[in-house]
Amino acid sequence: MSDRRYLVKEMFGPTLQGEGAHAGTAVVFLRFAACNLECPGCDTDFSPETAVRMTADQIVARLLELDTGTARRVVVTGGEPTLQWDEDLSLAVRGAGFRVHMESNGTRAPQGKVDWLTVSPKSQYHPASIALADDVPASELKLIVDDATNLEWLDKHAARYRCEHYFLQPWMDGHYDAHLQKAIALIHQRPQWRLSLQTHKIINVP
Ligand code: SF4
Repeated sequence: MSDRRYLVKEMFGPTLQGEGAHAGTAVVFLRFAACNLECPGCDTDFSPETAVRMTADQIVARLLELDTGTARRVVVTGGEPTLQWDEDLSLAVRGAGFRVHMESNGTRAPQGKVDWLTVSPKSQYHPASIALADDVPASELKLIVDDATNLEWLDKHAARYRCEHYFLQPWMDGHYDAHLQKAIALIHQRPQWRLSLQTHKIINVP
């Protein structure tokens, strides 16, 4: 086992997965610090301040402690979790019986096995040096719907990722109602897409 220390922003649970195909299911969360993008309007605090360095063993021990209902499902997110996820941590977490559900911006393939990969591309906000990675094994694709989202954007990403589920998720900013109506209209034009809401915000759980 490696003695690498991972920069962890927070771990919490048990709670419910709020988004995507597993919305409503019991999970615990592992949120890494750091991201390789700076999307405007990002509402996630992934700064290294207050983050702690933890070994794989410490992470697993805390996950087991949090998972009081023995759901054994962990959502691994960030920031961008692929910056830190590796085979050693995957072996430790999955070896403890957890299914790993990762949420990534799609700029890197995970360097360690995961059981479910949500790709939520933000390529409109990429600096020139960063592109979507090839051969990312997405289980579900989730596109944020905001003022910039259009049919061409949907089609381009649907062609790039062959996966089980295609979700449109209205951005919950000051124009949420307009984004929701736009998402619904887009789904009627491209019915392979489904609506995903941030239900954890609606039911007020972390
Ligand atoms: S990729 Fe996600 S976490 Fe990173 S800046 Fe963009 S919205 Fe925030």
